[in-house]
Amino acid sequence: MYQVQDQSIRPLTTAHLAQTMTLLALSNLELRDKILGELAANPALELLEDRVCPACHRHLPQPGPCPACSRPQAEDGPIVFLSPREASYSRRETTGESQPAEREPAAPEDLAVHVLQQLATGLDPADRYLAAYILSSLDEDGFLQDAPVIIARTTRSTLAQVERVLAMIAHADPPGLATPGPRQALLAQLDLQDAASSLTQLARRILDQAFSELGRHEYERIAASLDVPLSRIRQAAAFIQDSLNPYPARAYWGSGRQPQASDPNVYHNPDIQISHSNGDEAAALMVEIFAPVAGWLRVNPMFRQAAPESTEPVSEEWARHLERAALFVKCMQQRNNTMRRMLEILVRQQREFILNGDRFLEPMTRARLATEIGVHESTISRAVSHKSVALPDGRIIPLDRFFDRSLSVRDRIKEMVDQEPRPLTDDEIVDRLRREGIQVARRTVAKYRAIEGILPARLRHRKKDQPAALRV
Ligand SMILES: [Zn+2]
Repeated sequence: MYQVQDQSIRPLTTAHLAQTMTLLALSNLELRDKILGELAANPALELLEDRVCPACHRHLPQPGPCPACSRPQAEDGPIVFLSPREASYSRRETTGESQPAEREPAAPEDLAVHVLQQLATGLDPADRYLAAYILSSLDEDGFLQDAPVIIARTTRSTLAQVERVLAMIAHADPPGLATPGPRQALLAQLDLQDAASSLTQLARRILDQAFSELGRHEYERIAASLDVPLSRIRQAAAFIQDSLNPYPARAYWGSGRQPQASDPNVYHNPDIQISHSNGDEAAALMVEIFAPVAGWLRVNPMFRQAAPESTEPVSEEWARHLERAALFVKCMQQRNNTMRRMLEILVRQQREFILNGDRFLEPMTRARLATEIGVHESTISRAVSHKSVALPDGRIIPLDRFFDRSLSVRDRIKEMVDQEPRPLTDDEIVDRLRREGIQVARRTVAKYRAIEGILPARLRHRKKDQPAALRV
């Protein structure tokens, strides 16, 4: 009676649903821990090491995906398959014994994730762990708590490596992160300003030579010690106050940015990889959904055979084990099917976004995707959460980016500002967007502008005009 019937025709039980939901919400690393835990607790569950297709259970003699399950479902559709292998970034490389013990992160984790996303392409794979470590150990203002030499020792990196990664982080958005304090944060932000501007140069001198006087507003003293007219010192001080931020992490919180997946680990262990099949850019996209563990799970057949023959008190326990193992296998199967169907639709729909970037994101809701697959919206929310995708260009992004409706609008605003002949006010941006068929409120434009790190029009104005007027 505990034999596993053809599972597809049995109705879903509450236990089945609940467990499938739980499994869907886990990242690959978390799922791996869950599977190893089940294996340890349940003798009726076993993991076979041979290479078996996770979808159809065919044995796979060759390395690579299952030939039967890795065909496009539709004409010019993507090739989506469950991979029998784990993510290409080895787990040992990032979480082995040689790495420092976990530390309680003081900085908000999604800030870390936000920065890691930007660095993903430029970062040497060997530095990924280091970057994640630094970002997760910042204090709540975004400053370093340890000296670089300590970080180097803790992470077994070279000082040069640490300094290189620190410089990358300090110049990402929000600029000035991972510096030792406000002065260095402001200097890092100045690096991103027009270096030829005399105002920028004066601001740098003030930060270098008269930082404490600046804090006390002792402008006359600064003017005397730097031998610069008082009026210019005032202008430079106003520029520092308006355009720079001594506490980079605080700016981040005020910007209305949406929280992203909370696990920085997912950024060096993508759960899904999208690539061009055979490296051919015109060909169908290949979507590989990595297995959390190598091998495949099944109910131990020996255990199943032996169960009915065992004697009373033991057999009850065995029955429980068998039932639990069967349920777990079934739920894993269900989880995998949902991931596969979801990605088939997502990748077909978002091909342009995947290949050409943020502007081409087709806003799609979780609800619509749920309807297309025939599952509840909450199933999609879970399937999307804590997952990351490696794109063909090497970027690793959270899966929920595919549902970020603001992304293409933000990208358009950024472009408008880049090309503006004179600073456009938020109202003017609203008008221009409306003419392009995009309806957004002014305060939404202001919010998106802040997310993209674009100053309000009146400050952009000053930035463009003033340096010329002040040039000596
Ligand atoms: Zn297969």
